[in-house]
Amino acid sequence: MKSIRPNSTYRSPARSATRTTANFTAALTDLFRDALDLIYPAGLKCICCGAIIDATRTYSLCNQCMAKVNWITAGARTCDRCGKLLSENDPADTCFSCRENPHVFHRALACAQYGALERDIIFSMKYRGHTEIGDILGEIMWDRLQSLDEMEKQEIFQGGIDVIATVPLSRQSLLARGFNQSYLMAAGLARRMEAPCDQDLLRRIRNTSAMKSLTPAERRKNIRGAFEVTRDVTGQHVLVVDDIYTTGSTADEIAAALTAAGAGRVIFFTFAAGADVVKS
Ligand SMILES: [Zn+2]
Ligand SMILES: [Zn+2]
Repeated sequence: MKSIRPNSTYRSPARSATRTTANFTAALTDLFRDALDLIYPAGLKCICCGAIIDATRTYSLCNQCMAKVNWITAGARTCDRCGKLLSENDPADTCFSCRENPHVFHRALACAQYGALERDIIFSMKYRGHTEIGDILGEIMWDRLQSLDEMEKQEIFQGGIDVIATVPLSRQSLLARGFNQSYLMAAGLARRMEAPCDQDLLRRIRNTSAMKSLTPAERRKNIRGAFEVTRDVTGQHVLVVDDIYTTGSTADEIAAALTAAGAGRVIFFTFAAGADVVKS
């Protein structure tokens, strides 16, 4: 039987004029931030708003941003499948979208509900080249694991995990960005968990369109058959790390590939997760 180490889930051994003024202001803000980037090293600027901070701030967040991030805290009511915060007026343990669309992955877990600040942090990491944010998100994820009580850990991990996997980018995206944010985060988490991180376990075998503007059904179709697993993972519990969970289509596709390769359990772990979609 797999055992959970204290404080860890790693099982040993083993993403008009007014308009012109707004654009101008945005460009000035960008210029200002770029100038600050040159003057102040990483760690002395809030990873969300760019305000100057001192080196002792938790997660390199200023006090205001720290208070405004929609943290999913210990004991919060979350979906027993996807880990999103449950609506207060929904007495069920499983969120609306998981009830409508049963998932392939076993569990998902997130640290914060996706909103403006969470978007800014992810944007800064992915598109402004602040790769140091990856490790900070790894730390945030590690702390999220620590916040789980033993019963939650058992429910989610069922004995622990064997390997941490990353969501591969298309060759085109990797070349354009120069790094894979999923790997940066996973490496930061793996180091703290003292667990192996295998960035080659999953491979993207075909390019996909950007998911942002697609409906859930279009997302599923877009991502179908996009991944392959590069080795046998029979019986293994795989923790897949990514920046954001939205509809779960990527998580399901990856879970299907891992399950076909023998994985015993697939857990999808992200920094942020979108709010549940409640039918009105
Ligand atoms: Zn801030
Ligand atoms: Zn759910």
